[in-house]
Amino acid sequence: MFKEYHLAITAQALRGRFSETALDAILFGNTRQDRPAGQIGHPEYHFDDNAFERSAAYIERNRTEVRAALERGDALPAWHAFGRLTHAAQDFYAHSDYVTLWLDRFPADGWPPADAIDPLDADLLAGPLRSGKIYWPLEPFSWIPALKRFVLPLLPRDSHAWMNLDWPERGPKFAYAYAAAVKRTAHEFDLTAQSLPPELLSRFMGRG
Ligand SMILES: [Zn+2]
Repeated sequence: MFKEYHLAITAQALRGRFSETALDAILFGNTRQDRPAGQIGHPEYHFDDNAFERSAAYIERNRTEVRAALERGDALPAWHAFGRLTHAAQDFYAHSDYVTLWLDRFPADGWPPADAIDPLDADLLAGPLRSGKIYWPLEPFSWIPALKRFVLPLLPRDSHAWMNLDWPERGPKFAYAYAAAVKRTAHEFDLTAQSLPPELLSRFMGRG
């Protein structure tokens, strides 16, 4: 997803749960994943390239880092790790066919409102799911608005360029990816919070 949507989704899901300092650090850790070095060779940061298992493991690795940092009394790396974790969780809905498969259950003229999407449908999560592949070196050129219409026809339909729901221009499914990402981010907070004893939880929330 584009940076402005990662920021909006994360803030919408987490504001009120964290101090402003904590939320700022989480937003930094989240959006930093889309730096060039985070785009190349790291499909697990973004649920790209069908890297579902690697991405799920990456989320759990970051959850472990959250706790380890809090136990050291070091909240900043915990917030950054939680930011990375939420970035991956949010990209799942923008880069996989989860939203499409969820909507396929309804007639094309009878989609429920976007807020109705269940981000954790067990049948869908059980798979098989697909996510867009990054085809180098063409894919990044499709991210440049002026070049997109020339590059898109050259890329296969299973590419990230064709499959992504990264921004509203991708069509009506974007609203479902966005709504699912907000709910999933709140869920990831709940999972992480439940795993922490009270003292570490208040440090995590920036209130300890
Ligand atoms: Zn990403």
